[in-house]
Amino acid sequence: MGIRRLGGKWLGRLSPGSSANSPDEAARRLIEQARTAKLPQGDYRKHSLAIHGQICAKCGREFDENNLHLLTVHHKDGNYKNNPPDGSNWENLCAYCHEDEHTRGL
Ligand SMILES: [Zn+2]
Ligand SMILES: [Zn+2]
Repeated sequence: MGIRRLGGKWLGRLSPGSSANSPDEAARRLIEQARTAKLPQGDYRKHSLAIHGQICAKCGREFDENNLHLLTVHHKDGNYKNNPPDGSNWENLCAYCHEDEHTRGL
């Protein structure tokens, strides 16, 4: 009697969706990890523009969609892998000011 019951529980545990659920969740986790761990360049740029605005932090030049490609994201600590979501390591600089920023110390 006891043995039969155990067998029934065992099967009952395995069958309901455990094999259907896990690959799905694994994939979801992978996607989420990729999203948060490695932000592709375009991603943090958009993010920084959204936080700091489409304006050069140095010369104050404003940008619109026609010349937005001239506005770049500078990493204050020089580490392009350091991308805190609050934008504290980003500075929006136009291409000229950005170059100036990087050549100044030399
Ligand atoms: Zn500038
Ligand atoms: Zn820079």
